[in-house]
Amino acid sequence: MTEPRDLHERHRAVLPDWLSLYYERPLELTHGEGRHVWDADGRRYLDFFGGILTTMTAHALPEVTKAVSEQAGRILHTSTLYLDRPMVELAERIAGLSGIPDARVFFTTSGTEANDTALLLATTYRQSNQILAMRNSYHGRSFSAVGITGNRAWSPTSLSPLQTLYVHGGVRTRGPYAHLDDAEFTAACVADLEDMLGQTRGGVAALIAEPVQGVGGFTAPPDGLYAAFREVLQQHGILWISDEVQTGWGRTGDHFWGWQAHGAAGPPDMLTFAKGIGNGMSIGGVVARADIMNCLDANSISTFGGSPVTMAAGNANLIHLLEHDLQGNARRVGGLLLERLRSACAGLGVVREVRGRGLMIGVELVRPGTDEPSPEAASLVLEAAREGGLLIGKGGSHLGSVLRIAPPLSLTVAEAEEGADILARALRTADGAFN
Ligand code: PLP
Repeated sequence: MTEPRDLHERHRAVLPDWLSLYYERPLELTHGEGRHVWDADGRRYLDFFGGILTTMTAHALPEVTKAVSEQAGRILHTSTLYLDRPMVELAERIAGLSGIPDARVFFTTSGTEANDTALLLATTYRQSNQILAMRNSYHGRSFSAVGITGNRAWSPTSLSPLQTLYVHGGVRTRGPYAHLDDAEFTAACVADLEDMLGQTRGGVAALIAEPVQGVGGFTAPPDGLYAAFREVLQQHGILWISDEVQTGWGRTGDHFWGWQAHGAAGPPDMLTFAKGIGNGMSIGGVVARADIMNCLDANSISTFGGSPVTMAAGNANLIHLLEHDLQGNARRVGGLLLERLRSACAGLGVVREVRGRGLMIGVELVRPGTDEPSPEAASLVLEAAREGGLLIGKGGSHLGSVLRIAPPLSLTVAEAEEGADILARALRTADGAFN
């Protein structure tokens, strides 16, 4: 008789090696409520990662649970071949919020598929397969999305038929322009872009960029960089796609969308979204100007995109988020959390920078006394925080040397303080271990 194997062993036996798991002893989460989750042993954790920014408002939000179960009790799926009331309602809401004039919305089931669709639209509209993307970016895992992903840790092939040119600017504090002030940094990146376009054969279709890089380690350029880029792009007829998969829905506190920090040039031509809108239900999508969205002259469909159960969740979640001003809460509580973390980290050699906006906060770790990224310290902090009852994420260009903090937007002040204290203790442990 063979011994019963634990879930981790069974996972390893049937799932890909590259489907990475956090923690030496990976966690099985069984339920959640508000900003907390519980593991299979009944242990409670404060959740500062929200299922990779998918739990936007709160775990087990009653309105979402009710909307999903009511819709599931009526009909699970009908297909976009029939009129789908929850889909039309959610499209109306998102089009209105997008800032894009005469906007059209197409729903997918993931952020990857949303970006794939944006690439399909941009390359068709412009009749070019050349794309500008940012260094250190992440846009998903399909063949085309990895082809425009600048972060080598997440880009397993370079065989994509898209021609991608990588642009400077997504990361403010590392790289050749890090010593410049914000205005000089912006001018240097714009000059670089102009130089690149001057040397490029044929028309480029689009620039795709995350306003704050997510997987890349919650790192942002100076406000206004994309407005400055936009002026150059417009001279060439190049489209601007803002990948709002992590930055949408008020996550950054000051703005509903990340692009609005660069708002001088107006909205992008397209934006893509996913993650938080369904509060955990799989919704992605593209918003585009009508002339771009309608440029396809063959049919195109996503069988499960716009599925009424997910759309019902999206509507309930978005209404809750707006009615409770969770963007404002992200700004206030996020500001407090950032300050508390900054003062807790002062004097720790292992911390290079604490940065962020709203409830999207990154803590960049290095080998003390150097500028070298320390994924080892990040892993140690993740483990120690877990022991203390706090879940966080990691990211960055160097296999995860940046701690990523992105709780549900309903985080309370008391929870922010509790989480900051647990994290501070974990960081001190790492500082002691690596100093
Ligand atoms: N774009 C960004 C900015 C992301 O962070 C992600 C996922 O982390 C994606 C696209 C891909 O989304 P998904 O994992 O839903 O396919």
